Amino acid sequence: MNTEKTRVLIIGSGPAGYTAGIYASRANLRPIIYEGNQPGGQLTQTTEIENFPGYPQGIQGPAMMDEFRAQAVKFGAEIKSKTIAKVDFSKHPFECEDEDGDKIIADAVIICTGASAKYLGLSDEDKYRGLGVSACATCDGFFYRKKNVAVVGGGDTACEEALYLSTLAKKVYMIVRKDYLRASDVMRRRVAEKDNIEILFNCNTEGLFGEDGVEGARIVRHRGTPEEEHFDIAIDGFFLAIGHHPNSEIFRGQLDMDAEGYIKVAGATTHTSVEGVFAAGDVADPRYRQAVCAAGTGCRAALDAEKFLMEHNEL
Ligand code: NDP
Repeated sequence: MNTEKTRVLIIGSGPAGYTAGIYASRANLRPIIYEGNQPGGQLTQTTEIENFPGYPQGIQGPAMMDEFRAQAVKFGAEIKSKTIAKVDFSKHPFECEDEDGDKIIADAVIICTGASAKYLGLSDEDKYRGLGVSACATCDGFFYRKKNVAVVGGGDTACEEALYLSTLAKKVYMIVRKDYLRASDVMRRRVAEKDNIEILFNCNTEGLFGEDGVEGARIVRHRGTPEEEHFDIAIDGFFLAIGHHPNSEIFRGQLDMDAEGYIKVAGATTHTSVEGVFAAGDVADPRYRQAVCAAGTGCRAALDAEKFLMEHNEL
């Protein structure tokens, strides 16, 4: 078991973690970034990013994250391709432990652990995980060329996934529980223009079926009303796009969180309920959840950490 000391430990990558890394390393704080098990975060599972300023032609998510990472490394951030498994914020300096049991003692900690895809909670989702059930069209869409698939959800993510899949699959159903898409205008329009996307409004999924993998989904329309009807759709792939939950489990009981597990920060700062621990990006943002916002809060967290270290004579 090794023990290492750092002034700033950044837990998690993605736009928040890497931006915190860029700022903290430029301030000569020599941060250590634990990238976690999905280096680059959620953007590495997306396709084209069209709304990050500075990329008028758009850029692929993984390519953008590679550039963020390279910029952090250029200024001296040390990157570890590991996950932090345990933290102890009850004493200062903070004691954290990685997945191999190695200890890292940090004067300040910046949490950028992001969020992960939600599932419906059906037992069939577990049964067919990797056998037709996925929460990432870009990762798994390739397996469904010329097949029928369904995407659950009516937000921007669901539209994005459905549009991507529509270029590969024969047909894409969107299973939407309301009678409208919550997605932005532009996404709704793009979906409407696709002949091979069919939206099943007012519908919920009751289960999946199939021998060795998904062969279909059981759908209920107008659940709990007099018009309730049940029907099956034949599909080979079932994609979840119903939002995300914050990756904050290891901090539970140590930091104040809201009912959904988003880490609470004080006002426009990144200060958590423990002095010297800061949170940035989606793990602390139930509202905006945009890459550019995550990058902005990553910057703030690094500045907040620098100020904290200065005030505590740790610089
Ligand atoms: P959202 O929370 O916006 O949408 C979630 C969707 O899933 C809604 O249609 C919701 O239905 C549905 N849903 C939630 N729970 C269930 C359930 N149990 N059963 C069935 N349906 C369910 O999440 P997104 O991930 O789409 O987007 C998150 C944020 O990221 C948004 O701010 C979005 O604008 C942004 N984003 C932007 C993109 C871009 O600009 N390129 C791309 C992707 C995301 P209901 O409407 O009924 O609540």
